[in-house]
Amino acid sequence: MMNLDEYAREALIDAVGKKNVSFDEAILEVYAYNWGMEVVNSMHGKEPIPFSTPPVAVVLPSTTKEVSKVLRTCKKHDLTFKAQSTGLGPWNNPSRDNCIIIDLRQMNHILKIDERNLFAVIEPYVSGAQLQSELMKHGLNCHMPGAGPQVSLLASSTSMSGPGFTSPSTGYSGRNVLGVEWVLPEGEVLKLGSLGLSNEPDWFCGDGPGPSLRGVMRGLHGAMSGNGVFTRVAIKVFPYPCSTEWEITGDLPDYQFKKPDHIEFYMFDCSKYKKGERVMRAIEEAEISFMCSMLSGFGAAAFFSNSLEGVIDKVTIARMRVPILVAITGRTSRQFQYRQEVMEHLISKFKLENVIGSKFTPPSISYAEAIRNNFGMHGFISTGGVRSAHGSMESIGMCMNVTKANIPLKKKYIKREQIANDFGEAVWSTSIERGHMYNIEAMALYDQCDKHSITGVAGYCIDSNEMDLHNHLGIPLFVEGDELHDHFGPECSNYHEWLRKIKQILDPTCIADPGNYISPGKKKKEGET
Ligand SMILES: Cc1cc2nc3c(=O)[nH]c(=O)nc-3n(C[C@H](O)[C@H](O)[C@H](O)COP(=O)(O)OP(=O)(O)OC[C@H]3O[C@@H](n4cnc5c(N)ncnc54)[C@H](O)[C@@H]3O)c2cc1C
Repeated sequence: MMNLDEYAREALIDAVGKKNVSFDEAILEVYAYNWGMEVVNSMHGKEPIPFSTPPVAVVLPSTTKEVSKVLRTCKKHDLTFKAQSTGLGPWNNPSRDNCIIIDLRQMNHILKIDERNLFAVIEPYVSGAQLQSELMKHGLNCHMPGAGPQVSLLASSTSMSGPGFTSPSTGYSGRNVLGVEWVLPEGEVLKLGSLGLSNEPDWFCGDGPGPSLRGVMRGLHGAMSGNGVFTRVAIKVFPYPCSTEWEITGDLPDYQFKKPDHIEFYMFDCSKYKKGERVMRAIEEAEISFMCSMLSGFGAAAFFSNSLEGVIDKVTIARMRVPILVAITGRTSRQFQYRQEVMEHLISKFKLENVIGSKFTPPSISYAEAIRNNFGMHGFISTGGVRSAHGSMESIGMCMNVTKANIPLKKKYIKREQIANDFGEAVWSTSIERGHMYNIEAMALYDQCDKHSITGVAGYCIDSNEMDLHNHLGIPLFVEGDELHDHFGPECSNYHEWLRKIKQILDPTCIADPGNYISPGKKKKEGET
């Protein structure tokens, strides 16, 4: 581990105050740990342990001014930084040994809820659950990424991906972001959208003044702290989908939820992917769903279970080949009734059998999980570890191609007993914005404590990337860092050259850790020094 000199230490203390900075080795090691780091290490030919290089310091700023001061300190003392909001996942870890962690947990305020103009202004450590609870008081709701209600909405909006289970009706994070406060890598504060107006600045718009920088800010999947620190953001909010009654009883993990008025699940087996595609298109064209996901039988059983035994018990739904799970909701009885009638019509038109209420009764808590976007955690119950290998935000046709092409590849790793046997079929696909786009993720369930299993997932991820590249199956989720961008770029209109130019302009001396983004320098050719 690199040691910080005393001048750098003093400067960091000066930036955030003594009690908000740590150089303690035990603390730094904790920040070196992350879920999924073992797979990333294995993919890079390192020991498959869940630790990265530890940071040289951790700072906890409370204001934008402090963040800016920290970044200026990094520049002056030749340090890099990695910002984290809730810090879940290996994309939060340093890739350099001169890196500090900027832990934003003290910036946890909801600054504004604009009920009339349907947006909320939040700081980095505001979770989806926190904002949703406040919005419910106004009859409103927010979009959350599939990671769950515990993660940061700001991080998802500004810096990383963004599809979630309610994407059909609430979009994806990159589309919901409005005004942004952004501290550039060298410490300068940039205000995007209507927040940057000199007269009456406000948060309601993410574009302009002048050309929009939203694409530069996050593109499709975000810069993952590679282009500065976002300190405040406005995001769109939506009408709450059903009645806001919320009554929970019981104990963890077997809570009971009093199903509120105007929400119902529908689930049916489409048997074949082609039919699944047609059904999903039709449901989304009708603009009736709150949530509309294509799963596998195994995935459907896991969605409604809290344990491996629970999954095994659900033979009726686990047997389904191409299940689609839909949540229909309504703000009023009339809207709910209309949407249900359209759903019934489509069920009959496509000769489907709705298993909900006949062959299967979902646990009541599932309705709360649908509203609170909490189905992602069920991915962990079977083996303790889950990782998305393939992942694309694309057309539905492309998502189906990925789903089918994935099966033989995944089976290779199942046969070697490195990942759980889901017959190669476990995927999660959702429509985004009423079918204008779709998201697919192919999950691998693995054992985080078993080297054989970890190396299997790593191999599966590498093979998935190669397959997606060579079979033109879209840009996968985790194309990050110089090596992968330089590998994918030449096949994809040389986008990597443009990305590198953006990094050069924003961060010429590479203060923001480029590990999950791109570095400003040109990659050296073989033999070049
Ligand atoms: C089990 C699981 C399932 C997931 N499923 C989905 C999914 O379905 N859809 C989806 O979109 N994502 C998914 N993710 C990833 C998820 O999007 C992110 O973890 C989450 O959106 C971001 O919230 P966070 O609080 O975890 O952010 P963090 O993990 O803290 O940050 C995410 C990234 O953004 C950077 N960052 C964080 N805050 C800032 C900031 N203020 N300024 C600059 N950079 C910052 C971090 O360095 C990191 O690289 C999943 C993650 C897990 C663990």
